[in-house]
Amino acid sequence: MDKIQVVWFENNLRTTDHQGLHQATQHETPIIGVYVLESSLLEPTRYGFPKLGPYRLEFIDETLKTLKQNLQKHNIPLVIYLGNAYDAFRKLSKQYHIDAIHYEKAYASEEDTRHQSVIKAFPSTSFYAFDTKPLMHIRDLPFDIQDLPLSFTAFRKRVEKTLKIKQEVSIDGFKQSKTISVNNSDTFDGLYDQSSAPFVKGGEDEALKRLNYYLFESKKIKTYKETRNQMDAFDASSKLSPYLAIGALSPRTVYYQLKVFEQKHGSNDSTYWLFFELLWRDYFHYLLVRFGRKVFYKNGLFNTPYHPNENKNHIEAWKNANTGYPLVDANMREINTTGYMSNRGRQNVASFFCHYLKQDWRIGAAYFEYLLIDYDVASNYGNWLYLAGLGVDPRGTRIFDVINQGNRYDPTTEYLLKWLPELEPLPKQERYQGLSKNNLQQNLNLFEVDYPKPIVDKPIFKP
Ligand SMILES: Cc1cc2nc3c(=O)[nH]c(=O)nc-3n(C[C@H](O)[C@H](O)[C@H](O)COP(=O)(O)OP(=O)(O)OC[C@H]3O[C@@H](n4cnc5c(N)ncnc54)[C@H](O)[C@@H]3O)c2cc1C
Repeated sequence: MDKIQVVWFENNLRTTDHQGLHQATQHETPIIGVYVLESSLLEPTRYGFPKLGPYRLEFIDETLKTLKQNLQKHNIPLVIYLGNAYDAFRKLSKQYHIDAIHYEKAYASEEDTRHQSVIKAFPSTSFYAFDTKPLMHIRDLPFDIQDLPLSFTAFRKRVEKTLKIKQEVSIDGFKQSKTISVNNSDTFDGLYDQSSAPFVKGGEDEALKRLNYYLFESKKIKTYKETRNQMDAFDASSKLSPYLAIGALSPRTVYYQLKVFEQKHGSNDSTYWLFFELLWRDYFHYLLVRFGRKVFYKNGLFNTPYHPNENKNHIEAWKNANTGYPLVDANMREINTTGYMSNRGRQNVASFFCHYLKQDWRIGAAYFEYLLIDYDVASNYGNWLYLAGLGVDPRGTRIFDVINQGNRYDPTTEYLLKWLPELEPLPKQERYQGLSKNNLQQNLNLFEVDYPKPIVDKPIFKP
């Protein structure tokens, strides 16, 4: 039986700046890449929908196709299993002697349990964990993880003082001498509707193309800070999140390309701000490392008293974009149709779910998990906790006035009408109010708008 090393690909579907792959190429033994699609993620949970929905599934499938091609250039095969990791590695071990497995360290409980099931099943295999999800390696943080600052600003100020970001690693020039064949590679055929048009195309090559476009070709990065809060224009923000979440792109690649851009074309607040957002991403990652399972607790990180209502009709109205609050409904239609929603939209619909509807934040977060093409466990649950007021936010609960926010971030109502064209008959300045005004009946008769009335009253905002 041939001895092999395995690079276990999970949320790191790339060949550029891949620590585990780089590690594996330092050994003599041939390498096989393995990806396991956990079929349990496709089954409905207690909330009535699965953890992994069609948009991300398609994105992963496309990303794996590119990964296969890019690994092939180095004579490394990729084998895909549908099922569970334990069975996958058992199958592989019938064909090969697995000498070593290189895998990315997991901090979320489910992923860790999965790893442990494989580690226990192969006592004579060496396991090498690597950690390349964040921009800054845990060892390079200027504090022990138990002392992680409990506000983003404090975290940012500390890390910026001693900023240390490891250089990217590369396997350029490596070509596996021995050809290793694999069989039993599964496919995603039939798991999603392959005729749908994805929000963005998957794959490492597409990720690098998008990065290059956003920085060097279009130079949109130069105005990122001013545009990033828009809800509509595709280039208003980088749209790198799906690639970063699935690991088709390394945050270090973004960082070092940003530095090249700054050297060539100068730095400004906008170039800094992309780095600033990558620090937010790191911060949520390290909150998960620091707090573990508490990130998923109903009462949040500090066991804050929290008593959500349980109103199935309200949850359904939110999911189905029928709340009667135009900003919320437009954004929910967008995520339902594309698998993406802007950061401004996410903040508003999440705040609405937690504070207007007063529903259990975990249900909203789970719905995002199901739909988002860029779902990332730490960023999603961390942001939801933050908005629910159960995370690390010294400024307390974040309640947005979703009517003012609509008027402010979409003054032309172009975004709104894209998703809720039925509101067009209303005067522009009233569209974000929908049918919530006192002259509701008059509006209805006058404009014949087919749109629901608000399902709950707006909270009272202090001026
Ligand atoms: C309730 C809620 C849930 C979210 N869930 C996710 C998620 O599952 N996955 C995810 O990647 N982002 C999540 N975000 C953060 C943010 O909305 C998206 O990263 C961003 O909208 C992606 O678009 P972009 O790549 O164009 O972002 P850009 O504005 O171009 O930002 C560049 C990169 O910085 C990172 N980033 C930006 N904002 C944040 C943030 N608030 N938190 C963490 N990272 C950030 C992302 O990796 C992003 O790609 C969530 C935000 C909220 C409010």
